[in-house]
This record gives sequence, C-alpha cells and structure tokens, in this order.
Amino acid sequence: MTAPDRAPVVARTPEELARIRAGLGRTALVPTMGALHSGHRGLIAAARGRAEAVVVSIFVNPLQFGPGEDFDRYPRAFEDDLRTCAEEGVDVVYAPAVEAMYPGEQLVTVDPGPMGHVLEGASRPGHFAGVLTVVAKLFHMVRPDVAVFGQKDAQQLAVIRRMVRDLAFGVTVVGVPTVRDSDGLATSSRNVYLSPAERTGALALSRALLAGADASVTGPVGILDAAREVLREAASSEAPVELDYLALVDAHTFAEVGADHRGEAVLLVAARVGSTRLIDNVPLTL
Ligand code: AMP
Repeated sequence: MTAPDRAPVVARTPEELARIRAGLGRTALVPTMGALHSGHRGLIAAARGRAEAVVVSIFVNPLQFGPGEDFDRYPRAFEDDLRTCAEEGVDVVYAPAVEAMYPGEQLVTVDPGPMGHVLEGASRPGHFAGVLTVVAKLFHMVRPDVAVFGQKDAQQLAVIRRMVRDLAFGVTVVGVPTVRDSDGLATSSRNVYLSPAERTGALALSRALLAGADASVTGPVGILDAAREVLREAASSEAPVELDYLALVDAHTFAEVGADHRGEAVLLVAARVGSTRLIDNVPLTL
C-alpha cells in the first residue's frame, strides 16, 4: 500500500506565508496561475529535486492581462489543484486573493527593458511588466532559494532571468523543458478552451516548430521557410490558425537572428485558433 498523499499547507495572505516560511529550510518556488496540468507537474518535480521544501503559488495575476484578454474566463480549479499538489508532494500552496497581492493601486512596477517589448511584449503591451511585478513580489514574500519556470514561456523565462541578474535578486532560476501531450501539443491551461476541431488545428504550431527544427542545418532562412509552410497550410484548415508571429531569436537577447547566425536560438510561434491564443517554441542550436 502506498502512503496517502499529504495535503499541502495553504497560505492565503503574506502574513500566513511568512509564518510558514520561517519553519522551512532551502525552498523552491513554482509560480503558477493554477489549472495545473502535466507541465506544472514537471516544474514541481524539478523543484523537489533542488530544495527541502516546495512552495507552489497559485494566482491569476490581473496585472499581466490586457484589456479584452481572458482574465475573467481564465480557468480556475483550486480543489483539483490542491489534489495535484498533494500528489506531487508540494509542501505549501500560496494562493492569495487579488486584494492580498495588490492591497492598493500598484503604482510601482518592474520595467522589463527592451527584451520585454518584442514578440509577446509587442502583442501584449504591459504583459511582461505585469509578470515581472508579480514575480518580484512573490520572490519577496516567499524568499525562495530556487525558482522554477517553464521553457514553454521562453521569453518570460529569459526576461525573469534578466530581472534576477539586473536587480540582484539572489534567486537561482531553473528552466524546465516543455511538456507535451502525445500528439505534440504543448500542455497549457488554455487548451481547455479548444473545441475538438480547434485542438486538431492547434497541432500545426508544434508541427511547424518540428519542421523548422528538422531544417536547422539549412540555417535561419531555411528554418523559417519550413515552419512558415506548415502554418500557411494551417491557415486554411477547418479550424484556421491565424498567425500572430513566427520568429527565430537569439536565446539570450530575444533579438531576431541574422541569416548567418550560429549558436543557440529559439524558434517561437504565437497564433490564434478560434478565440484561443496559443504560444509555443523550440530551442535550436545552429
Ligand atoms: P502558468 O500557470 O501558465 O502561468 O504557468 C506557470 C509555469 O508553468 C510557467 O513557468 C510556465 O512556463 C510553466 N508551464 C506551463 N505550461 C508548461 C508546459 N507545457 N511545459 C513546461 N512548463 C510549462
């Protein structure tokens, strides 16, 4: 018989969290917006291997959603999330209300710099300032030794690494490879929005990245051409894929690479399928 999963301790306010944190040793933080799936489980497993205690934060951060985005309909599944955290051996779940996280108007925010204004930052103005502000607050509240993020949100991970370096947070940032369903679709809390036809259409994103990766010996132009071809076909499928951007960027600066680029790069795609906006990426070595 296996031992029953131990329910994590739940903290709802910074004060409750501080009391609990005082009794923890080396701590890893996994920031999430909840509706936990296999991708989050991967982050939690990575966190457990690097610390004595794992804190998962669950907070749908209004600051990182723009007007007309899906803040109100973003999936919320707290009881399921608690079960998932128990199964994964999480010690503490920090789930503050919006008022606990933002007791007054947030006048001071973190500027993500140039890396935060391209790609996702260009499509979603203010998004990375919202992300960095909540991550900075979570770092101050949880005081983690290690913080774990997914490469699924590659630009977010790069901007967070840069904030930690430029603002001397003294937190070790760990990036975890993207978890995918068996058909290649990157797992995401937003996948629940997809109808069966849209889910099939959405597979074009990972197919395009794979086509790009397969063409990596041909260099940047060949990579982008191969990926674009898949997306062009998907634009006229039953559930059309409306491309936002396809880009090949330097893995550290997120600047688009030139035709003669060699070394680490990331091929990124963002697209809308029906009313759902999806992002995906694959790291490449050229
Ligand atoms: P979210 O709850 O969507 O804000 O994501 C919380 C964390 O989980 C972020 O660091 C994401 O990059 C990461 N994440 C989300 N989906 C995946 C995935 N499919 N594979 C790996 N990490 C993921």
